Amino acid sequence: MKDYYAVLGVSRHAGQEEIKKAYRRLARRYHPDVNRGDSEAAERFKEINEAYEVLGDPAKRRRYDLYGEAAGIPSVFERGFEGFGDPFGGLFDLFFGRGRTRTTHAPRRGSDLVAVVELTLEEAYRGVTRSVEVPRHMTCDSCGGNGVESGYALDLCPECGGEGRITHTRRSAFGTFTSSTTCRRCGGLGEINTHPCPRCGGSGTVEAVDPVEVEIPPGIDDGDRIRVPGKGEAGFMGGPPGDLYVEVRLAEHEFLEREGKDLRAVVELGMAEAALGTVVEVPTLDGKERLTIPAGSQPGQVFRLPGKGMPSLRSRGRGDLYLVLDVRVPRDLTPEQRRLLEEFQRLESERSGGKGWRERLRKAMRPQH
Ligand SMILES: [Zn+2]
Ligand SMILES: [Zn+2]
Repeated sequence: MKDYYAVLGVSRHAGQEEIKKAYRRLARRYHPDVNRGDSEAAERFKEINEAYEVLGDPAKRRRYDLYGEAAGIPSVFERGFEGFGDPFGGLFDLFFGRGRTRTTHAPRRGSDLVAVVELTLEEAYRGVTRSVEVPRHMTCDSCGGNGVESGYALDLCPECGGEGRITHTRRSAFGTFTSSTTCRRCGGLGEINTHPCPRCGGSGTVEAVDPVEVEIPPGIDDGDRIRVPGKGEAGFMGGPPGDLYVEVRLAEHEFLEREGKDLRAVVELGMAEAALGTVVEVPTLDGKERLTIPAGSQPGQVFRLPGKGMPSLRSRGRGDLYLVLDVRVPRDLTPEQRRLLEEFQRLESERSGGKGWRERLRKAMRPQH
């Protein structure tokens, strides 16, 4: 990588005004008009302009300081991982494993986070806004995320001179061997942070609990996830933040059971109520509803209340509410109840006149000879 600071003869901590002055001075000296026919001066003039184009622009300079990226120049990142294949592989773990004092400057997207919220069925029915508190890493506002104390910049690694690799030469009876290894001082990045930001310790991020308001739409179901863009972990070294995923758990409801868009509930009736018919109040998510049970209703019989189910997330319209009848058979009867039921049974036998299912069964099971 061409060192633009060296080209302009200024230090890496030089202010914008100093860079401008250095450029003007050099540009005057090497200008083609005063060096006619001198190809070396022309080349130098081109170099000076290229350097100033980057360092003279604070935004481009910052990018150059951080990643070494400028017109056609491979980034520090690429150089650092040359020959290692997947740059996001194990090496990253190696550098990030160092914790807060790591020296990696390559930009990386922050991780996604998952938060679980428990909702009641009523909340899922109407939709709700929830404040979710997730401890997460946020970009350090003191250094803007680059981990360098304000007023300073990254320095060229003195160990490898910015190359990111160290070449060893070994002589033996068989000849000279050269090998190269990743620079341990800078982790192969060619630059080091000699002035870590005091607020974040050079990591570029600080951990904090930042409540995130999440809009949960009506109809949300157990296990559904809502993505809140940009509310995950902060990115590293200017990389974008990750996303927050809010996963919904539905608490069990006392009466209502959810089946997709539809709801189910059991309506329990006494034996006589089922036989005589009645009107019952049933719970719905809109409040109580009156349901007329006709005389002679059977256990397991289902009544449908259209549109009393859950709203749909993906389409308009609502599901239905299904009410399943359950008939309660009394366990201990008072003497009076017993007398009445026995009377009922006698009348019932008389009425069926031997055509009840028990008589039919007995006939069916009689030996055939
Ligand atoms: Zn910081
Ligand atoms: Zn180095």
